[in-house]
Parts: sequence; structure tokens; C-alpha cells
Amino acid sequence: NKIVIAIDGFSSCGKSTMAKGLAKRIGYIYIDSGAMYRAVTLYCINHNLIDGNLIDENSLKKQMQNIHIEFKINTQSGRPETWLNGKNVEQEIRSMQVSNLVSPVSALKFVRTAMTTQQQALGKAKGIVMDGRDIGTTVFPHAELKIFVTASAETRAKRRLDELKAKGENISYQEVLKNVQERDYIDQNRSESPLKKADDAILLDNSDMTLEEQDKWLYEQYQK
Ligand code: C5P
Repeated sequence: NKIVIAIDGFSSCGKSTMAKGLAKRIGYIYIDSGAMYRAVTLYCINHNLIDGNLIDENSLKKQMQNIHIEFKINTQSGRPETWLNGKNVEQEIRSMQVSNLVSPVSALKFVRTAMTTQQQALGKAKGIVMDGRDIGTTVFPHAELKIFVTASAETRAKRRLDELKAKGENISYQEVLKNVQERDYIDQNRSESPLKKADDAILLDNSDMTLEEQDKWLYEQYQK
């Protein structure tokens, strides 16, 4: 009867795979908070609110109320997908273009406030597993179970590369590694809810774990 399970950690360390697996096993709702930041970033791209690396903060602030993010279950796969203003953007938000811009967008205070409020509202549902960067520290400081996941940057880049290649993205290991390292740096050093382990979170380094081993480990933490 743990109601909120928070899984935070570094980029591409398998948080979402773990979170999805546990949610399915115990019948909880899975929520990908990173998808929400990615959707805001896609909105910025589509509305020309980013020029190079420069974000038009004033316009974005005014338009925040026009950004509607939903999670809908794909009836075929049974998996939740991200919708932005009535359009399925599940694939688009995973592109390298979005990955390269999401961390600066996520560092903006008004963006975080808006997303945190929406995430807390989603948390009213019974039994959720949410993954992200600040779920255990800021969104749900009273979560019943908090996990903080890490793995070496090289392991994480390799995993993300395999994922992107499977989707047909033509990209090099170096490019993915650079993106993972840059996001970690920005996420850890922003002033608002930086990426860090909550004092009461359980640390997991899964560099040398198989998917089965990490699923088993997580389920054991849940049962404790
Ligand atoms: O989890 P994912 O890698 O898709 O998240 C993309 C980005 O969104 C992160 O690199 C981070 O900048 C931002 N994010 C965040 N807070 C969260 C979840 C994601 O700032 N709770």
C-alpha cells in the first residue's frame, strides 16, 4: 500500500524501464515526468520560441497556459503516450533535437512550477510510479518509496544509443554521450529543484545489472 513511488536519477539510466515494469507488476499508474518537459520543449520548437540556444522566456511564460499535456493509453500496446494540444507527440519528443534543448527549458522556474503542479494533480490517482529528476525532492517529498538511479555515463550513453538506433535515428555514440553529459550538468546545476538524491532515497547503481536483476531489486524495495 505504498501510494507514490518516486524514481529519480541521471539521464538514460533506465529509470523509465524500471518504473514502467514495476507499475505494470503492481497495477499502479506510470507517469513519465520527463515527457512533460520534453512536450514543453517541443512546443517551443514548433512555435519558434527557441533561436539557437536562446529561449524566448517572456513569450513562453505568456503561452504556458496554451500548453496542454495529457497521457493517453495506446489501446494496442496498452502503454501511455504523450499528447500535446490534442496531438500524439510520443515519438517526436524523443528526438535528439528535443533532447538537446530540454534541459535549458526545464531549468526555467515558471516551467517547473507549472509542471510540478500538474504532476502533483496526477499524483491524486491511487498508486502511481513517477520517474524524473526531482520527484522525491520536490514533487512528492513524502513519497512512500524513493529510488535514486545512476550508472556510468558511458553505460548510459550506450543504452540510449541502442534505443535511438532501434528507432532508426542515425547518430554517433559521441553525440549521445555529449548530450547525456550536458543534460546531467545542466540538471544538477540549475537553481530550481536541481537533480540530486533525496536524503531518504535508496541509491541504485545499475551499471552492471541486467534488466531482470534491476526489476527484481526494485520489486524487493517495494515489498519491504
Ligand atoms: O527523463 P528524460 O530524460 O526524458 O527527461 C528529459 C529532461 O527533462 C531531463 O534531462 C531534465 O532536463 C528534464 N526533467 C526535469 N525534471 C523532471 C524530469 C525531467 O527537469 N522531473
